[in-house]
Amino acid sequence: MSFKVQDTVIKPGTTDRGYVKIGDASTHEVKLPYIVINGAKKGPTVTILGGVHAVECAPVEAIYRLAEKISPDQLSGTLILVPIVNTEGFHARKPYHNQLDHLNQNKVFPGDPEASITKRVAYHVFEHFVSKSDVLVDAHSADLGEDVTRGIFVYKTDKKKLFDKMVELASLYNPALIETTNISGNTGEAVNKYGIPCLMIESGAPYPIRETDVQYHYDGAVNLLRHLGMLEGESASYHPPLDPPSKRVWAVKGGVWRRKIEAGQRVKKGEELGTVCNLIGETIQTAYAPMDGVISFLRVHYSVSSGDSLCWVAKA
Ligand SMILES: [Zn+2]
Repeated sequence: MSFKVQDTVIKPGTTDRGYVKIGDASTHEVKLPYIVINGAKKGPTVTILGGVHAVECAPVEAIYRLAEKISPDQLSGTLILVPIVNTEGFHARKPYHNQLDHLNQNKVFPGDPEASITKRVAYHVFEHFVSKSDVLVDAHSADLGEDVTRGIFVYKTDKKKLFDKMVELASLYNPALIETTNISGNTGEAVNKYGIPCLMIESGAPYPIRETDVQYHYDGAVNLLRHLGMLEGESASYHPPLDPPSKRVWAVKGGVWRRKIEAGQRVKKGEELGTVCNLIGETIQTAYAPMDGVISFLRVHYSVSSGDSLCWVAKA
């Protein structure tokens, strides 16, 4: 079946790369890049988003590799890749927000075609791609000053069948654990609006982009496409824990976080995780692991304030 993006008709067995016009900044046009690989054979439609947060680039690299490797001849169904959703943050190399209206792209879904640029981007992502999809993958890494590896979130919903489907699909990424979230305005609004499974992948840190995280995003996507019958080959299955107990370790006072751990590292209860010192080098806090587990979130900013999370340890 042909796939349409605005006036462009993408025939089965072909790939199209293009842009959807969003609006204009004072100096340039704002446009949303896409790559649609329309398989020669019938099958489901999957959308993978990258760059919703503009410096989270491990998934962006994975998306370009998927586009290079997957030919429409070998695909059953349609794979929609949006490598960089927040292009305004991307060119400015700025974290968190779109530079034009200072909104967080992942707080404004399902968007509004007549509002400011960030909301328009959200609207067009849903209108042209997500509304036509059977599965949505929103691929992130940690944002500036944070680090996460092999993480994944699924969205809370009362619809048990849909929730179970999301857990089944999330497991295909072989995450360390699966966490649930119900923050409104993120891409999980697709669960409410279209009743489709939505996964939010979290692996990587802004710079440098680690190859292991790119590979996590890439391998997970390929495994998902195999599981859905869109690519040939057996899918591997994994059984990560769902919402295991986890504990936050935080800065008691502001200072300098001199960590001794990496994201994804396994730690033992009582193990030293690092210290916080004041600006004249005196240690004011030694952080210890509250239980055996894995570092599921790590602050990598050197500067911390009272109450900042230094890390999370999850029993996984
Ligand atoms: Zn993000």
